[in-house]
Amino acid sequence: MAPDVAPGAGAASEYTRLSLWWEEVPLPLPARPALNEDLQVDVCIVGAGFTGLWTAHSLALADPALRIVVLEREVAGFGASGRNGGWCSALFATSDNALARRHGIDAMRAMRNAMHQTVDVVGASAASEGIDCHFQKGGTVDLVRSEAQKERALAALEESRSLGFGEDDLRWLGPEEARTLVGAAGTMGATFTPHCAAIQPALLARGLSDAVERRGVRLYEHTQVLDIRPAGGRGPSVVTNGGTVRADVVVRATEAWTPTLPGSERDIVPVYSLMVATEPLGPDFWEAAGLGTRPTFADHRHMIIYGQRTADDRIAFGGRGAPYHYGSAVRPSFDSDPSVHALLRETLVELFPDLAGVRFSHAWGGPLGIPRDWHSSVGYDRATGLAWAGGYVGDGVATSNLAGRTLGDLITGKASDLTRLPWVNHRSPRWEPEPLRWMGVNAGLWTMKLADRSEGRNGRPSKTAGVLGRLLGQ
Ligand SMILES: Cc1cc2nc3c(=O)[nH]c(=O)nc-3n(C[C@H](O)[C@H](O)[C@H](O)COP(=O)(O)OP(=O)(O)OC[C@H]3O[C@@H](n4cnc5c(N)ncnc54)[C@H](O)[C@@H]3O)c2cc1C
Repeated sequence: MAPDVAPGAGAASEYTRLSLWWEEVPLPLPARPALNEDLQVDVCIVGAGFTGLWTAHSLALADPALRIVVLEREVAGFGASGRNGGWCSALFATSDNALARRHGIDAMRAMRNAMHQTVDVVGASAASEGIDCHFQKGGTVDLVRSEAQKERALAALEESRSLGFGEDDLRWLGPEEARTLVGAAGTMGATFTPHCAAIQPALLARGLSDAVERRGVRLYEHTQVLDIRPAGGRGPSVVTNGGTVRADVVVRATEAWTPTLPGSERDIVPVYSLMVATEPLGPDFWEAAGLGTRPTFADHRHMIIYGQRTADDRIAFGGRGAPYHYGSAVRPSFDSDPSVHALLRETLVELFPDLAGVRFSHAWGGPLGIPRDWHSSVGYDRATGLAWAGGYVGDGVATSNLAGRTLGDLITGKASDLTRLPWVNHRSPRWEPEPLRWMGVNAGLWTMKLADRSEGRNGRPSKTAGVLGRLLGQ
């Protein structure tokens, strides 16, 4: 049976609303088929975000003869990969200290070095595939805007030094230097790492999907995977709404949607991160705000915030704070939360008071995936034929590239520095059943919010947030 082209596959409106970034995706989208037959292939990848696409890319490069298919319920880049903050950073969800405690200092260093290199690999791979994703490696400035934040920033520097990292990896910026890079109000200093590039994520995801197709990977969109079954004599199989795919290896690359797959309900919790963007800003604003080399920016508060100056001179700015939804539900309606979007706009104006009165043109959001021990992982079990990668928390833009290259080596049986990294074949414990999960995750989110509020009032570091960090193994 010939594959069908899904109705509406090339339509614009459905996906351009997903994020600021999606608005710049060239239209019409290529009309890719939906699966409507049974297939036998070498590797079947479920999910066409960065993880699935980098995995396909690395396998196609390693062995062009491999028959690889990618199955995507919507379109490539529909998930977090097409909607994120565009920090292509060396951040890894598990802290260096926690990695060193669990795996030893050498393994932690190897992981950190691999992440540092990965930032450049993303830029180089995108360039070699002719993808212009507005990659600019300006590092990250983490502002210090209160005494409590300063205490945490200095502790982070001390920890970094004690683990053997130098000024080239993380350094202190005095108030003047910090304000030149990021002209935010109330800046008392900052920490700076060069290991981050600002990117336009949807252009990278869509460009990658074209690149893997050019390399012979078959991409089926509008194809929902209903079940992934481990090897039962004939290799693992993937049941979809349009046919069954049998493969030697099946890669699960579904991140926040993982709990929708039978048997994986408690593997990861989906948590929403939301973003806003200003209209393009003029030279007067940038003269004061800096961000000339497009460093990504945040500050040392507990609740994560993240920003970047886009290539077309907007600020794209996001943060956590949206509640976790009961039963690990993931729905399009959760992409928007007016109160969180309003808080993000307020926070950004508080950072850059010159933005008061400026029009915010976009507001969007998406789900990311958190494993119970905040330990991202990549792995392949030859016995079942099942492979996976994810649990990046909010740090998947670069990590997914490392995952894809690692899966390439694991699946083709190449022992390498990548396959020896400590996150390989790590198994996170499962989350608690409901309602404990709902209570625990939302209590954690509230603790972070309250800790920031109390620090804002009295300037002292919050003890409760510190205890929560330790409970999470950070
Ligand atoms: C708002 C926001 C901001 C973020 N900012 C940053 C940042 O600045 N830097 C950073 O490093 N990370 C950031 N992240 C996290 C980062 O975007 C993700 O970790 C990363 O994109 C995950 O890639 P992925 O391919 O694993 O998952 P996704 O991109 O989510 O892709 C999963 C894909 O699987 C598909 N799928 C799911 N279930 C099925 C099924 N049953 N059948 C078929 N297909 C299925 C989905 O449709 C989706 O396309 C952010 C996330 C969000 C939401």
